[in-house]
Amino acid sequence: MEYVVKPSAIPSVPVNNTDEFFPVHRIYCVGRNYSDHVKEMGGDPKQEPPIFFSKPASACVVGNQDVNYPQATSDLHHEVELVVALKSGGKDLSIESALDCVYGYAVGIDFTRRDLQAIAKNNGRPWDVAKGFDQSAPISSIAPASECGHPVDSRITLKVNGEIRQQAKLDEMIWAVPEIISSLSQFFELKSGDLIYTGTPAGVAAVGVGDTLSASIEGVGELEFNIV
Ligand code: MN
Repeated sequence: MEYVVKPSAIPSVPVNNTDEFFPVHRIYCVGRNYSDHVKEMGGDPKQEPPIFFSKPASACVVGNQDVNYPQATSDLHHEVELVVALKSGGKDLSIESALDCVYGYAVGIDFTRRDLQAIAKNNGRPWDVAKGFDQSAPISSIAPASECGHPVDSRITLKVNGEIRQQAKLDEMIWAVPEIISSLSQFFELKSGDLIYTGTPAGVAAVGVGDTLSASIEGVGELEFNIV
C-alpha cells in the first residue's frame, strides 16, 4: 500500500530478556482505583464506579529515556501505576476469563497536567488535554505473565530524587486486574496490543525539570528517567 504521507512508527515496548517488542495499539487508563488516592482527590471511594480515559499510543516513553517537561502546565503530577499488556481481547469479557487476555505487566507513570485537569473537572470538560499529551506515559520493559505470573499483592513504589513519594500494595486497588479488564470490555472491544494503566495510589505530587523518577513493582519491573 502506498500512503500519501509517511506513516508514524508503531509505538513499541521492549520485552524483558528478549530482543522482541510489544506493539502498542491503544492506552486505556483507570482513574480513582486506590482508596487513599480517591480521598486525597476529594472523592468517596465507595460510591464511584471505575472511571476510564485514554491516551494516544504515541504517549509511551520507553528505555528510561528522558521526559521533556510538557508545555501548557505548571503543575505536572506523577502517578505510578501497574500497567497490563494485552495479547488478545474481546467484548463483554467475564471476570473469570479476563486474565487469559494478558500478555504481561510493566510499571508506568500516568503523567497528569493537574492544573488543566482541575479546569476540566470544574467545567465538566473532557480530560484529554490533562492526560493525553506527548510523553505522558513512560513505561518499563514488559515482564511476560509466563515468567512473572499475575501480580496480586506486590509492592508498588515511586521515588523522586531517591525519596519515596508513593508506595502501596497492588491488593489495595479497588478494582483488581480481572475486574478492570471485564469492565473496560463492556465499553470497548479490547485488542491485542492494548495497554491498561490501572490507577495510582496516594501521594501524587508535582515534579519539575531536573527531577529523577524511579518507579518499581516487585517482581514486575523498574523504570528510571529524568525530567529535562
Ligand atoms: Mn492515573
